[in-house]
Amino acid sequence: MPKPRLILVLGDQLSPGLSALRAADPARDLVVMAEGMGEGTSVPHHPQKIALILSAMRHFAKDLQAAGWRVAYSRLDDPANGQTLVAEILRRASEVGAGALLCTHPGEWRVLADLQALPLDVSVLPDDRFLCSHAEFAAWAEGRKELRMEWFYREMRRRTGLLMQGDTPAGGQWNFDAENRKRAERGLLRPQPLRFAPDAVTDEVLALVEARFAHFGTARPFGWPVTRVQALEALADFAAHRLPSFGAEQDAMLEGEPWLSHSLLSAALNIGLLGPLEVCRAVEDAWRAGKVPLNAAEGFIRQIIGWREYVRGIWALKGPEYLGANALGHSRALPAAYWDGETRMACLGAAVAQTRDLAYAHHIQRLMVTGNFALLAGVDPAAVHEWYLSVYIDAFEWVEAPNTLGMSQWADGGVVGSKPYVSSGAYIDRMSDHCRGCGYKVAEKTGEAACPFNLLYWQFLDRHRARFVRNPRMAQMYRTWDRMDAGHRARVLADAAMLLTRLDRGEAV
Ligand SMILES: Cc1cc2nc3c(=O)[nH]c(=O)nc-3n(C[C@H](O)[C@H](O)[C@H](O)COP(=O)(O)OP(=O)(O)OC[C@H]3O[C@@H](n4cnc5c(N)ncnc54)[C@H](O)[C@@H]3O)c2cc1C
Repeated sequence: MPKPRLILVLGDQLSPGLSALRAADPARDLVVMAEGMGEGTSVPHHPQKIALILSAMRHFAKDLQAAGWRVAYSRLDDPANGQTLVAEILRRASEVGAGALLCTHPGEWRVLADLQALPLDVSVLPDDRFLCSHAEFAAWAEGRKELRMEWFYREMRRRTGLLMQGDTPAGGQWNFDAENRKRAERGLLRPQPLRFAPDAVTDEVLALVEARFAHFGTARPFGWPVTRVQALEALADFAAHRLPSFGAEQDAMLEGEPWLSHSLLSAALNIGLLGPLEVCRAVEDAWRAGKVPLNAAEGFIRQIIGWREYVRGIWALKGPEYLGANALGHSRALPAAYWDGETRMACLGAAVAQTRDLAYAHHIQRLMVTGNFALLAGVDPAAVHEWYLSVYIDAFEWVEAPNTLGMSQWADGGVVGSKPYVSSGAYIDRMSDHCRGCGYKVAEKTGEAACPFNLLYWQFLDRHRARFVRNPRMAQMYRTWDRMDAGHRARVLADAAMLLTRLDRGEAV
């Protein structure tokens, strides 16, 4: 019998069809799964995120064992646990005399470097749970001046056949955003997402996490799916009850309504409990059955085969250097409000509070509230990146970094977005009901009561004038600014400077 090989399964690789498992031999090889303080504290991950990963890993290990695999599983509270991935791999290798390790490409550059440095014969297999491989994305990107998501998305529609009628997109259009981006109505009785009461495994893990990780965020109430069966139920529930209004409510924000019509499926997708194609097929089926409008199905499928695959392609194409991107030279510390929620700004306060309590905020909260504010305030993108990687249930570097550094902070100098996603308070007022109960006044442009987004928006444009004034998508904003009375502009800049000074002093704004 040849020597056993180690088959590494990471906490976000919980898919029975994982490439490393497909390449392994259950009769010969040993699956290695390891919980560790090292991974749990590489950034201060939200307690719900740690609990989700540990619980889902424990369930997955049991399923593997039931399917006939030998699994060496290192629990966090096992005294023999070396507490880092590398230590545990080396311990298992020496226990069984293994000289080789098979793994699926990890979603973090740091982990890849650690694995490649192991004193073992390491084979890294492609992660083919995605619809577009690194090589296919590189071929698509080759020779293009701009890597715009929309063109990539159309190719993915053609390639998957999703929402296609022959060669043409269903409904004659690729994109129905004109029908989306609506304000959400207050007071509607929205179907709440399916949440899952913790079972014994999750309960045990929650107690462990509460005892060991004093990180931002509350571990309970915990309702995330931790098994594939639960994740499939969550998908079916979303498709039946919230998908019909997903398109219309996609960009809306409402005080006290954290979920609106969102799917909450990102974490299940990112740890491998669901596959992107099966999720999109379920959504397409609902549309073909006449149960959901095309704008909802298209808007949802675009997020998965478009944005999700696209950001992963960017992460792979740009490599580890991307993590240090800072095209705008921003260096301010992350405001304390991102951790303690202390602010008079209703929108920011709501986003941070629900992030703390639920490990969740939807895309527009991440992009146009917390992201927008950090960008306008000139926060160091590395600090913003660390915050987003820490606080969300679905945060994994391959998806978080391009969204944060690229889409949200424009730190990559325009690889992901042709212009920065910045807005004044008017956008937040249009898309939400936060401004009604805010400590600032969205209609005020200067002075003590002026919405900080109003002040910082113009200050951002002013300080980055040389870079953006010739951007055709921003020219109109500069014309508007230039037409304002010189005295008014000076007041805006002075008030913005005062606000930034208060942030620098660590004062709540
Ligand atoms: C600054 C910033 C950081 C982000 N960090 C993450 C992250 O760490 N992990 C993550 O999965 N998403 C991230 N996103 C994208 C998006 O906000 C989340 O995928 C979404 O909010 C998850 O909630 P949901 O499952 O209810 O999504 P829905 O609104 O229901 O969308 C459906 C699915 O589409 C996918 N999706 C939607 N938008 C994106 C996107 N921009 N990039 C990739 N996939 C997308 C997700 O898989 C999501 O589950 C980030 C966005 C921003 C602006």
